[in-house]
Amino acid sequence: MRFSEVVDALERLERTSSRIQIVAILTNLFKRVVEQNKDIIDKVVYFIQGKLWPDWYGYPEIGIGEKGIIKAISLAAGVKEREVENLYKQLGDLGLVAERVLAKKPKTTGLLAFAKAKQEPLTFEKVYNTLKRIAFMQGEGSRDLKIKTLAGLLKEASPKEAKYIVRFVQGKLRLGVGDASIIEAIASLIGAPKEVVERAYNLRADLGAIAKMAVEEGIEALKRIKPQPGIPIRPMLAERLHDPVEILRKLGGKGLAEYKYDGERAQIHLLPNGKVVIYSRRLENITHSYPDVVQYAKSSLKAKEAIVEGEIVAVDPETGELRPFQELMHRRRKHDVHIAMKEIPVHVKLFDLMYVDGEDYTNKPLPVRRKKLEEILEPREEFNIATNKIVDNPEDLEKFFRQAIADGCEGLVVKAIHDKSIYQAGARGWLWIKYKRDYKSEMVEPVDLVVVGAFYGKGRRGGTFGALLMAGYDPEKDLFMTVCKVGSGFSDEELARLPELLKPYIIPNKHPRVYSNIKPDVWVQPALVAEIIGAEITLSPIHTCAKDEVETGSGLAIRFPRFIRWRPDKGPQEATTCKEIVEMYKSQLHKIEEKPEKV
Ligand code: ATP
Repeated sequence: MRFSEVVDALERLERTSSRIQIVAILTNLFKRVVEQNKDIIDKVVYFIQGKLWPDWYGYPEIGIGEKGIIKAISLAAGVKEREVENLYKQLGDLGLVAERVLAKKPKTTGLLAFAKAKQEPLTFEKVYNTLKRIAFMQGEGSRDLKIKTLAGLLKEASPKEAKYIVRFVQGKLRLGVGDASIIEAIASLIGAPKEVVERAYNLRADLGAIAKMAVEEGIEALKRIKPQPGIPIRPMLAERLHDPVEILRKLGGKGLAEYKYDGERAQIHLLPNGKVVIYSRRLENITHSYPDVVQYAKSSLKAKEAIVEGEIVAVDPETGELRPFQELMHRRRKHDVHIAMKEIPVHVKLFDLMYVDGEDYTNKPLPVRRKKLEEILEPREEFNIATNKIVDNPEDLEKFFRQAIADGCEGLVVKAIHDKSIYQAGARGWLWIKYKRDYKSEMVEPVDLVVVGAFYGKGRRGGTFGALLMAGYDPEKDLFMTVCKVGSGFSDEELARLPELLKPYIIPNKHPRVYSNIKPDVWVQPALVAEIIGAEITLSPIHTCAKDEVETGSGLAIRFPRFIRWRPDKGPQEATTCKEIVEMYKSQLHKIEEKPEKV
């Protein structure tokens, strides 16, 4: 197919913003493709999306930067790079620059002109394959080779064609064509309702492949489409509400409340060949970042093939407590994933199952999907189901929400469990409702807390202590009440020094003035004071600080605590009091109330 036909469509798309016209132009273009070479329909679709293939293929990018494109244009047009650069400054669009300088190219005469006249017109296939070849040029000398190959392609193109090739390479096609318009055009091409194409795309996030199936196998094939391990499913998304009463009303009075973990969403595919692939929320292939998750999935999923979904969360290697999202991102940035894996271990909290051994579960209600998930899962600490609870009254929902916060989560996702509670791939709907707090409270003031217990270190911290149990002081009751377990913020020297530092204070049983529901590996007599900062103060079912004072049955906890320094100048009775911690908690609540609701 002539590339000029595609370019004509691109030009028309660029000139209109009418959705109806966009769909009509695309439908026409697709018709022409089918008439001439239907094998390339997928590639044409990707091209319109401004890509060579879906991102999740994990293939390399074209990889020519602005400077390289300028060089390629100058080579193709036989003008100085400086000239191209100056024109770029004036026009601000390298596509227009290419068009302009190539139009000015001196006319070829004589034999050359004859050869050029005989030259076959540039085809879409050639453009696509050349760009693909450029993308796969890797290693030494590849930069020059990429530029030369692009220059060769531009030489063969007309000025107008060059404009679009350059914009494509730059990732700036700017057609204003969304997936929805392409879906409509595919539907109108084969005379199918657009919902059929949409559903197929939601279950297999590869619009090119869907277009190909549509033209080769027709509507019925699209209707029969099921998820396929290896091809990501577009994720189901949640609506948001702030009121437990309203949440339950929306869900028909009852729902499955689940911890909303603050991590990275993972769609985990177990392929029939035993391989595991992980896709992110944006459907990028993130398998290489999580070799540990791959292993957990391989050993815990008892099926031939499956697609399950969960949240990857960072955990403290010492305390096993959840860590904030930033730490997970830290791990993603590390170059050596195997070192990162040790420093920042992760757990996976599973919450859905979409496909298993040939059967599509997306159209089954959530309780059925969960039952199947439990059936095929051999849980282990690192790979298990998200903490959850069936709730049917606002009080329970609120209580569970607070527990989730205290356990280091963002809040809850409350999910419908009625007969129609299907997995709505690619849609945001009321079957999932997120209930989270919308403020970012930083605990501005550090507190001084007393060590009352210690936990042995694991891994890198073997032979020393990995975390300390910390308490605030209640002068009225003359008790030390626990408020957090701190394992972060210690330097290597401080860690190494811990056994010696604690030794004089280690006692065989809990000190009579310590009130704790947590049993550490060793008890420590209240003596040492440390300055600690946390992210915020939350209600806690476990910690005893200010127990029953704010709410019956709950104490207060410091979330994400970090050690700052020792306070040898302070005795245990000079530590921050539980009353002060209650005040800090209350002032945080004011902050929440003052904060306007997000829309
Ligand atoms: P959205 O996904 O709604 O566009 P977002 O990307 O900002 O918004 P959040 O507001 O954090 O995400 O809420 C949805 C996300 O919560 C999911 O994409 C998922 O990664 C995460 N999540 C954590 N725990 C759960 C759970 N138990 N069930 C569903 N999602 C969960």
